[in-house]
Amino acid sequence: MANPTPARTPGAPPTPYNDLEWVTNSVTDVDDVYLLGSRCTACDNRMPGRRYACSNCMRTDLSTHRFGPAGILYSYTKVHVSPSSQEPYILGYVDLDEGVRVLAIVDGEFDDLHCDQPVELALVPSGDWAVRPRTRLAAMSANHHGVEK
Ligand SMILES: [Zn+2]
Repeated sequence: MANPTPARTPGAPPTPYNDLEWVTNSVTDVDDVYLLGSRCTACDNRMPGRRYACSNCMRTDLSTHRFGPAGILYSYTKVHVSPSSQEPYILGYVDLDEGVRVLAIVDGEFDDLHCDQPVELALVPSGDWAVRPRTRLAAMSANHHGVEK
């Protein structure tokens, strides 16, 4: 399902970067979320969002690329004042594993977060995408590599 554009709940935090489209493979698995971006077929440069030209080599032969769901929380802050959103909410820069950095709403407790923390894309109750501390992916990775829990 490509970017279903859910109805916004009044007072809900805004979708960070409205130009970033997200997809999920299942409406029942809210943790299965990806962001759509672009990849240059000439130089492999990966860019968040839909682009018309590569920001590295300026060629226009781009393909759609899925980013996520895993990433690392680069930095974060708590927003206490907003003219349009219910505060407080947490905003962070996330380095997705494919090499792009995006601004994202962080779904979590501020005191439980730290820089360089593994996070994953997820849908939040408002119907928007956000990131939250990694749980499901860590378990999948541990099982994939044969690590006992
Ligand atoms: Zn390029």
